[in-house]
Amino acid sequence: TLLNAEVFNHLSESKTVAINDKARSLIEQGKDVINLGGGEPDFDTPHNIIDIAEEAMKKGKTHYVNSPGIPELREEIALKLRNVDNCNYHASQIIVTPGGKLALYIALMSMINPDDEVMIVNPAWVSYEPLITMVGGKTVYVNLDQKDNFTLKGQLIAEACTAKTKAIIINTPNNPTGRVLKQEEITELRKVAEEHNLIVISDEVYDRLTYEDHPFISVASDPELLKRTITVQSFSKGYAMTGWRLGYLALPEELCSAALKAQQHMMTCTTSFVQIAGIAALKNSEEEVVKMKNRYEERLDFVVESLNKIPGVTCEKPEGAFYVFPEVDFAGFDSYQLAEYLLEEVGVAVTPGEAFGPAYKKNVRISCANSDEMLKEAMKRMAKAFS
Ligand code: PLP
Repeated sequence: TLLNAEVFNHLSESKTVAINDKARSLIEQGKDVINLGGGEPDFDTPHNIIDIAEEAMKKGKTHYVNSPGIPELREEIALKLRNVDNCNYHASQIIVTPGGKLALYIALMSMINPDDEVMIVNPAWVSYEPLITMVGGKTVYVNLDQKDNFTLKGQLIAEACTAKTKAIIINTPNNPTGRVLKQEEITELRKVAEEHNLIVISDEVYDRLTYEDHPFISVASDPELLKRTITVQSFSKGYAMTGWRLGYLALPEELCSAALKAQQHMMTCTTSFVQIAGIAALKNSEEEVVKMKNRYEERLDFVVESLNKIPGVTCEKPEGAFYVFPEVDFAGFDSYQLAEYLLEEVGVAVTPGEAFGPAYKKNVRISCANSDEMLKEAMKRMAKAFS
């Protein structure tokens, strides 16, 4: 077991942040780079949310507030979880955090002991493994297959479980694949979770972004899973509020006290006026959210169509989120070489598939949360690079 400082020294850097930084520094040097590597909405935060925050600051709402979150926001979150997602958490089970990442960290901190195993399902978002490492846990992996449309199978999870496996992290809609969990998969998940006594951490930060006939289903909408599920949420993606740092976790009652202590000693509370803005987001931003979602879908359609016209590139339309995860067969390149080549040759930054698991050597992740002009130009450049 590594000591604490060693743990942090051994962490790998975030590969999505790294590619972003590299793209940004090339742009700063005056290079013509289109950055499709990042994971953030290009839209401005809806103005009613900004106005409410400004008003709150001017009214002096700039002090410490209740550690788990201001009561009005926790109530509003509980309502959303109950009425929209069919998850029966009480407001007292909600902790408002500075972003979804912190919510995940607190979730892990509050229950992982040294060498406990946490399972993640590849392709998986880049920060799960480092977060597990940071709390002293050990990551075990399940690999989902693109040929199977990344279907989550109970048997795969069961086979990877050991006596030390304490929790599993699920992500729906998925980053990078956009895959949205189906009811049958949630039922299979429930069976294994019960059999192996697993806590489920369900990262649902892209819940507002699902397309066509792929409705979002929250893991904790299954009443049996509710009892063992920590739901992690964020305002970053759906409300275009990445820089505000606002998220939350909803936990089973027995985990609340440990999680709240972590919050108290690390953060005291989440920024007061940002929480007030969060209420406006939940109550009064539906129209804006749907508008942004529709724009993402148009862009995804365009990008999927453009990519499939390039020889050697195969791209499914994602069910949710705002990424595509095409397979690219080009010159025998692996995903790092592909990303490097695109950045150096044609100035397009994408994220290598292997950042999401070693099996995804032929994939790159492309973010469609960019302007139409940028996406159009990027597709032109990629067609040229692979021709
Ligand atoms: N979970 C997933 C799958 C993400 O893609 C992200 C952001 O990239 C987060 C969680 C964390 O988002 P935030 O900390 O901005 O709420």
